[in-house]
Amino acid sequence: MRRIAMFGGTFNPPHVGHVAAARACVQQLALNKLIVMPTNIPPHKILPEGSATPQQRLEMAAIAASLIPMAEVSALEIERKGASYTFETVRTLKSLYPDSTLWLVVGTDMLATFDHWRRPEDIVACARLAAVARSDEDRAFIERRAKELRRSLDAQVDIVYNRAVEVSSTDFRSGKAPNLVPSDVLRYIRAHGLYGYGE
Ligand code: ATP
Repeated sequence: MRRIAMFGGTFNPPHVGHVAAARACVQQLALNKLIVMPTNIPPHKILPEGSATPQQRLEMAAIAASLIPMAEVSALEIERKGASYTFETVRTLKSLYPDSTLWLVVGTDMLATFDHWRRPEDIVACARLAAVARSDEDRAFIERRAKELRRSLDAQVDIVYNRAVEVSSTDFRSGKAPNLVPSDVLRYIRAHGLYGYGE
């Protein structure tokens, strides 16, 4: 049975926290494949002005994926156009990989709001959740949320004990430090003059 996870996000831009969390998932869940899936239009947040285009986020996500064993990038949500609803994506992945065990990777913030997403029951019918901490203080919360979602949605939740790397794309965009993204991603950002970084 193949073991496949989807790691969705806006990746505006992908940062070292994403890479570390994804590597921990690959290792601890013994994945054969990790699909990095940039959203087209995220239903749950508004992309700020000056954001990269979907194509640029896809290209940066591909660079980040090249740093993660077993990872590949997918344009499925971007090519589907419109708002990117995870239940549709997970359903498509289930039909593409019917005999595999599927996971959806969710960081603490996504786990917190999971039952407010569109059709969470459809998501958990197709995929297990792999919960990763964004900060070491999140651990107790994640354990509690996992129990709640197991009870309320009959979700299968696996907790990935990653070493948390407390970084967000917002931190990077607000100019806190260029080293919050992998160096090849930074090279891309500079080459395309994104987020106020010129050549
Ligand atoms: P922004 O700051 O623009 O809101 P973000 O840093 O939250 O972005 P996303 O691309 O929205 O990044 O995140 C995609 C997925 O990765 C989500 O499940 C999120 O919880 C998770 N994630 C983001 N940052 C980290 C991190 N530092 N450690 C673990 N998981 C993370």
